[in-house]
Amino acid sequence: MPGAFVPKPVVLHTADRMREFVRDWRVSQQGIALVPTMGNLHEGHLSLARLARAEADRVVATIFVNPTQFGASEDFASYPRTLDADLELLAAAGTVDAVFVPDDREIYPYGAREAVRVSMPALSRELCGASRPGHFDGVASVVCRLLNIVTPDVLVLGLKDYQQLIIVKRMVADLGIGVRVVSGPTMRDTDGLAISSRNRYLTDDERDRAPLLHAALERVAAAICDGDGNFGALQQAAADELRAAGFVPDYVEVRCAADLAKPNGRQPPDELIVLAAARLGNARLIDNLGLSATDAANRHATDAANRGATAKP
Ligand code: AMP
Repeated sequence: MPGAFVPKPVVLHTADRMREFVRDWRVSQQGIALVPTMGNLHEGHLSLARLARAEADRVVATIFVNPTQFGASEDFASYPRTLDADLELLAAAGTVDAVFVPDDREIYPYGAREAVRVSMPALSRELCGASRPGHFDGVASVVCRLLNIVTPDVLVLGLKDYQQLIIVKRMVADLGIGVRVVSGPTMRDTDGLAISSRNRYLTDDERDRAPLLHAALERVAAAICDGDGNFGALQQAAADELRAAGFVPDYVEVRCAADLAKPNGRQPPDELIVLAAARLGNARLIDNLGLSATDAANRHATDAANRGATAKP
């Protein structure tokens, strides 16, 4: 039954055991939701597990640091692996029935270098894909395998990794995979910084400056909502602002929210999204902000309220 508390998830390490485990649920016609993660779990992951629980009878989380989505100079070796703490968090949250924790050979039986890969079209080479060649092919390749092993009805992903979400949706549609993709909102610290496993790479001083990334996106979004259509200038100003604060911006871009195509200037603001990636010290931070109707309305209401508040004696 959706919503029931599950005190301790079953931990499975092999693809065969995982397949066997879901078979009984399938026979009894229970819906299954999958929440893929790379571990080092935080409130963002837990929020997706809660969403999954509301969407299906059974929830499977996976913890797998996927080698094929990391470039040679990236942080695969140092990526935080905190399995015991992750399992404790999931047990306390009571939202997950099973945790699939495979090793590389379970996911890539022929080895990661010799693996059959999903090759994604052009969008995979833009935005984050421009500076991370092969990253989204690696993401698509692992998600495809996890879908084949767990056979979920619902796949739950975070809006935090918006390009990943759009690319996985495209793969699911293009390969005819029978799964519904559901997305959950970005969980943030109180100062606006999107929670991320990679935030731990920040020094204290960098952590203090990190919320500027979200603030820069908010400024671009507010300007567009106020009618500024010069996206190029807005993007440039935001990148300059980040650079001045010590970030090394990778990109700040306004795109169409539906498919991440470049806007042609005729889209209404609520069909747009602002995305950014920037390095701060040893961390590469990404964030995005959709300009959906409610966001825009809320932003105006908040702005008005703030103006009112500061005008008070
Ligand atoms: P990761 O472990 O970083 O691969 O992320 C696993 C899933 O959690 C992905 O679908 C991410 O988009 C999602 N996620 C990561 N950070 C957050 C966050 N702060 N809020 C909501 N979802 C998140």
